[in-house]
Amino acid sequence: MNNERIHLSLAHMSGQEAKYIDLAFSENWITSVGPNVDGFENDIKKYLESDSFPVALNSGTSALHLGLILLDIKKGDTVICQSLTFVASANPILYQGATPIFIDSEPETWNMCPKALEEAVLDLIQKGKKPKAIVTVHLYGMPCKIDEINAVALKYGIPVLEDSAEALGSKYKNQKCGTFGALSVISFNGNKIITTSGGGALVAKSKEIKDKAVFLSTQARDTAPHYQHSEVGYNYRMSNICAGIGRGQMEVLDAHVALRREMHAFYAHYFEKIEGVTILTEPNDAYFSNHWLSAVTVDPSKTGGKTREGLRLALEAANIESRPLWKPMHLQPVFENSPYYGGAVAEGLFENGLCLPSGSNLSTADRDRISGVLDAFFSSRA
Ligand SMILES: *Cc1c(COP(=O)(O)O)cnc(C)c1O
Repeated sequence: MNNERIHLSLAHMSGQEAKYIDLAFSENWITSVGPNVDGFENDIKKYLESDSFPVALNSGTSALHLGLILLDIKKGDTVICQSLTFVASANPILYQGATPIFIDSEPETWNMCPKALEEAVLDLIQKGKKPKAIVTVHLYGMPCKIDEINAVALKYGIPVLEDSAEALGSKYKNQKCGTFGALSVISFNGNKIITTSGGGALVAKSKEIKDKAVFLSTQARDTAPHYQHSEVGYNYRMSNICAGIGRGQMEVLDAHVALRREMHAFYAHYFEKIEGVTILTEPNDAYFSNHWLSAVTVDPSKTGGKTREGLRLALEAANIESRPLWKPMHLQPVFENSPYYGGAVAEGLFENGLCLPSGSNLSTADRDRISGVLDAFFSSRA
């Protein structure tokens, strides 16, 4: 039997990428400006179907960093951030010398709990430390409780930096994720729903802000014949080669979303019959997840003692990759001094949660191998 490794999520090329890269070579646009960068930004703008102004950058992390800079986050400021996330949502807060304030998840979407958010905002205001921004995340592609969170943000006048790194192609009330923040972030890292090998985008709401982001991402060069700088700049722009990959990937984005959703449907159907295993699913029709990763929780009190870790090891023994959910930021040594608001939802998800192979390029044979391992694991004695 074929025993090749099945991965959690791998790059999946359309075959169209090379034509854009060839174009860059034939016209000698081997740099960070060029027709692919402009074309890719236009593709994203069209895809988001809103008045958005995307800026192609070299990573989602640099997009988050520039987002904080554009929101004027400085040393000593406080910034609210979802605790259950990838570390890149929070690290840029430290780059700016600001203090991250972490918020628990709610059990429906696993994202920021709007109640804990408001508690934190009120408490911080009382302490004279009103937060300057709120970093929200759509974990594994599942939109967060956007209306509730935006209501709190609006009520207290705090801008939202939307970390949509995992959620390109997801929608909330038929509006695309990546358009809900004062600024929004997309990632094109190798394991995301589409990739440019490495890359990201910051989505601005106006041409003016976009121009400012481009300026900062290309070393903040003033208009002068020589190199003149009055502000701190960064080297964060996307290269014209990477943007070429992105253009080819945009052609298959919706097809890949459909394939990821099929993987989710496969697992959802499988786990219907397994007591104690819950798959992350859209709470109602307002939500449309790209299901970048399919993730489950395993409750040992209902599975006869079978645990998430047991499942992970059983898959690993069959050379199938799976991974615990993100470890919450408030439990990470690097953030041990950061305040936290909420209960133990995120912690419980980390303890019992597992991401399953979810790539858009998994075959029927791969699925058969996965369900074979699941069958054996759930029918065995704990
Ligand atoms: C991937 C990811 C990022 C960072 O994106 P990079 O392009 O890898 O820098 C940020 N936030 C979340 C939630 C992510 O999953």
